[in-house]
Amino acid sequence: MDYRGRFAPSPSGPLHFGSLIAALAGYLQARARRGKWLVRIEDIDLPRAMTGADKIILQTLEKLGLCWDEEVIYQSRRHERYAGILAQLRQDGHLYPCSCSRGQTAGRVYSGKCRNGAAPNAGPAALRIRVSDQPVRFVDQIQGPCSERLDATLGDFIIKRADRIISYNLAVVIDDADQRISEVTRGTDLIGTTARQIFLQQTLGLATPAYAHFPVAVDAAGNKLSKQNRAPAIDAGRGREWLLAALDFLGQDPPVALHAAESAEIIRWGVENWRLARIPRRRTIHYPPAQALTLPQRPA
Ligand code: GLU
Repeated sequence: MDYRGRFAPSPSGPLHFGSLIAALAGYLQARARRGKWLVRIEDIDLPRAMTGADKIILQTLEKLGLCWDEEVIYQSRRHERYAGILAQLRQDGHLYPCSCSRGQTAGRVYSGKCRNGAAPNAGPAALRIRVSDQPVRFVDQIQGPCSERLDATLGDFIIKRADRIISYNLAVVIDDADQRISEVTRGTDLIGTTARQIFLQQTLGLATPAYAHFPVAVDAAGNKLSKQNRAPAIDAGRGREWLLAALDFLGQDPPVALHAAESAEIIRWGVENWRLARIPRRRTIHYPPAQALTLPQRPA
């Protein structure tokens, strides 16, 4: 099968070091396999979207030389597609309405209280999917074998919230299938969603892609670099330095001679020398806060 990978940023802010790692790892993995690399903007959860962030992310990718194939997909334009799949799941008896409040369920394995009918007149209901007691198993290309019994860790989970937004997991599964993604590359902050996504693929009769979850950059307190903890935006003007720092983070060991190179050459080197096996098999890597990051300098 032809390799098809993707980068799926949520447009909550400009690209930062954490999201650059996701973009670069996915790009190099796809190009090293002579495959396609697609971009999808995950703006389904509109309240969190920052106006214009999608454009900034796309422009930064282009300036860095991380050019994608095919048309960029926006989740916010795919509501009809999602609604169709939701209707199919409902018709096939996989879903049920649930009127339990967040306070009753948050942080706990869902008890299945509404499995046999939600309380009448309890207000707007969410939709939950019935999970099975069979373990979901997959072998992550970086993190190794993983297994999860969703009935023990999560219980029947929400597919559509009471406020009508369909769940991130369902949208991702539909998008990955529609974009014919053969391998999902992303940070380990999302490895916990993989069993749910595979379960949804199986329920919908969709193919399961391969998965490769690389370590995420965390600060001294263990927080991942994100817009919320003010990770600085990638300035494409210093793109070559950021690219070298990201290659280094991914264990690719760029040679000192590359420190003088332009972005295009750094990326070319990355494609030619890309080894997934060199990525540290860890969930997180402590990285100096990007503000204090000493980016490799050009030799004088
Ligand atoms: N939209 C997610 C994020 O920006 C990534 C989803 C994925 O790669 O599956 O963290």
